[in-house]
Amino acid sequence: MLTAAPRGTKDILPATVASWRYVEETMRTVSDIYGYGEIRTPIFEHTELFLRGIGDTTDVVEKEMYTFTDRGERSITLRPENTASVVRAYVENKLYAEGTPTKLFYIGPMFRYDRPQAGRMRQFHQFGVEAIGAAPAIIDAEVIVLAADILNKLGLKDLKLLINSVGCPKCRPEHRQKLRNYFHPYLEELCEDCRSRYDRNPLRILDCKQPACKQIAATAPTLDTCLCEECSIHFSELQSLLMAAKLKFELDANLVRGLDYYTKTAFEIQYTPLGAQSALCGGGRYDGLVEQIGGPATPGIGFAMGIERVLLALEKQGSLPFSHNFVDVFIVSTEAKHRDLAFNMMKQFRNLGLKTEIDFIGRSLKAQMKQANRLNARHAIILGDEEVARGKVVLRDMRTSEQNEVNIDGISKLLCKTEVRENE
Ligand code: AMP
Repeated sequence: MLTAAPRGTKDILPATVASWRYVEETMRTVSDIYGYGEIRTPIFEHTELFLRGIGDTTDVVEKEMYTFTDRGERSITLRPENTASVVRAYVENKLYAEGTPTKLFYIGPMFRYDRPQAGRMRQFHQFGVEAIGAAPAIIDAEVIVLAADILNKLGLKDLKLLINSVGCPKCRPEHRQKLRNYFHPYLEELCEDCRSRYDRNPLRILDCKQPACKQIAATAPTLDTCLCEECSIHFSELQSLLMAAKLKFELDANLVRGLDYYTKTAFEIQYTPLGAQSALCGGGRYDGLVEQIGGPATPGIGFAMGIERVLLALEKQGSLPFSHNFVDVFIVSTEAKHRDLAFNMMKQFRNLGLKTEIDFIGRSLKAQMKQANRLNARHAIILGDEEVARGKVVLRDMRTSEQNEVNIDGISKLLCKTEVRENE
C-alpha cells in the first residue's frame, strides 16, 4: 500500500518529463500565437460550482467526482474539468472588462473517479482553452483550428475531426420529445441510470457506455432534424470557415459530449489507432454556462485536450521521446586531493550552462568511465595525478575516444567552443 500510488494515478518520471514539457510548451506557444492568456485556477472548488456548471445528470457529477467535506464543513470537490472553474474566475474577476472575447488557456491536473485503463486515469492532465464573450461561428472555428494546429505541430497524423450541433434551448425541447417517443418502447431494456435519464435528460442516454443502451441509442433520432434556424445557420457558417481554413472534418450527428452545458457546436478530435480511448480532445459552445453559474448572460466556447492521451498517440506513432538525455561533461576524478578542484570545475562549467556531472559515491576510474557512458556524456575530463601537477587534464571525446591534454585554465573556453560548434 505505502509503496504504491493510488489506483488511477501515475508518477511522471524524469525520463518522460522531457516529452511532457515538449507537449506543454507546444500548447503554450500555439495558444500565445492565437492570443490566449494562461489562467491558473484552484485545484478544488465548491462542489456546487460543478453541480450547477457541469449538470447533475452527467456521469461526471453522478459518479466521478472526488467530493469531501473540509474542516469548515464546506463541501469541496477536486476539479473534474476546468471550464466551470474558468468561467467562475471570469465572473469573479470581471475579466469581461478587459475586452471581448476573453481568450484563456490552462494546463493542469483533473480528477475523476473513473474506471482506470490505458488512457483513462483518476488523476489526468488537460490542456484547454476558453473563449468567452463572442457568439459568432468564427470564434468556434478559431478554437477548433487552434486544437488541430497543436496536434499537427506535435506531428500527429491520422487525426479525425468530428463536428456536430447540439442545438440550443429553443430547439432542444422538440428533440427531447422525439427522444422520449423513441426510447419509450425500450424503457425496460435500458439500464437503471438511463431509465432515470429518460425523465430528467434523455439526451444523456446517447452518451451511456452500457452495450445494451448503446445499441438502442444507435438509431435514436438525431438533433440535426430539429435545429432551429439560428443553430442551422451557425452550423453551416462554421463548416464554411473550417473549409476556408482547409481543415478536414466529418459530421457526426451522434456526437453529444458528456457534459450538459454544451449548445450549438460540439466537436472532438480523435486519433483512431488508440481504439476505445481515441478522443484526444473535445469541446463545444456553452452559451448558457456563464449565466447558469451566476454571471451575466455571455456566450462561450472551449475544449479540453487530454495530455496523457496525446502522449499515448505520439508513442503509438513512434514519435517519442522528444529529447535524449545527455550530459556535456563528466569529470572523472578518483583522488581525494583533487576533490575541491573537481567540484570547482563543475561549478564553473555549470555557470557556463554546460550540463556537468561528477562521481558522488567513490567509484573506481573504470566505473566512472562507465557512468559517463551511461549518462550519455559528450566529453569526459580526467583529473590524473601527474597531469594536474602540470596544470593539465585529459579531455576525452566520448564519441570518437580521442584524448588530448589541455590546460586547466583554458578548458571552459574550449568546451564552450565545442558546444557552440556542435549546435550550429
Ligand atoms: P472531457 O472533459 O470529458 O470532455 O474530456 C476531454 C479530453 O480529456 C478527452 O478527450 C480525453 O483526452 C481527456 N480525458 C477525459 N477523461 C480522462 C481520463 N479519465 N483520463 C485521461 N484523459 C481523460
